[in-house]
Amino acid sequence: RLQVRNLIRAFDGQRVVNDVSFAVSAGEVACLLGPSGCGKSTTLRIVAGVDMQDSGSIHVDGNLICDTHFRIPPERRAIGLMFQDFALFPHLPVSENVAFGLKGGFVANRARVAALLERVQMSRHIDSYPHELSGGEQQRIALARALAPRPRVLLMDEPFSGLDERLRDGIRDDTLALLKDEGTAVLLVTHEPHEAMRMADQILLMRNGSIVQQGAPYNLYNAPADRMAAAFFSDIN
Ligand code: ATP
Ligand code: MG
Repeated sequence: RLQVRNLIRAFDGQRVVNDVSFAVSAGEVACLLGPSGCGKSTTLRIVAGVDMQDSGSIHVDGNLICDTHFRIPPERRAIGLMFQDFALFPHLPVSENVAFGLKGGFVANRARVAALLERVQMSRHIDSYPHELSGGEQQRIALARALAPRPRVLLMDEPFSGLDERLRDGIRDDTLALLKDEGTAVLLVTHEPHEAMRMADQILLMRNGSIVQQGAPYNLYNAPADRMAAAFFSDIN
């Protein structure tokens, strides 16, 4: 379970994240949804530990990972990351890419790597290199790599935006099924209402650094808190 309390982050006196609080349970997907520049990625980076808040606290499974006085480094937070560009290691085969976060690499973790590759239907590509794979295939390897160490929390920043539009919904559904199997708490950043409606158990609607509404997708869709929220959902079919 991820718990974020009263997060504040300012750049040059301007609050980009303004008193943000939310919680994501194990097995739940929360979508941080909002327009460009509203502070989504900054929030994610603070949770990941690659940026630091001015105030506020973050707990994972009840353990403090950072507040104003205390900070656990990113690699010791049991938090997985998956970004838009996938960032696979070009010089490593699929097997070592998936095993990257595991002690001992592929040789020490053959079973876990094989099971994940099977799960994302990429077993036959175990010896391939990233440049030999399509965008959708690279996405599946990046997902397997992020989940391999069994993170308590997985952070995903626009993980489908680089993919062919026609393939996206299928990949979203496959990804969601795997996330549910693994039971990780997932915080997914998107600016697409359709994606949040399709994937989220909980939507966190963000604007100008603040969460203006949060709840189940259909609650937001049926009862948007204000005109901006209504406009945001109006173009979903
Ligand atoms: P997008 O959907 O375009 O990715 P976002 O919601 O992820 O947008 P952020 O990347 O969190 O937005 O940025 C929020 C605001 O904070 C922007 O106005 C951005 O210019 C500003 N910002 C982010 N990082 C820094 C930084 N290191 N220094 C100064 N300003 C920053
Ligand atoms: Mg962003």
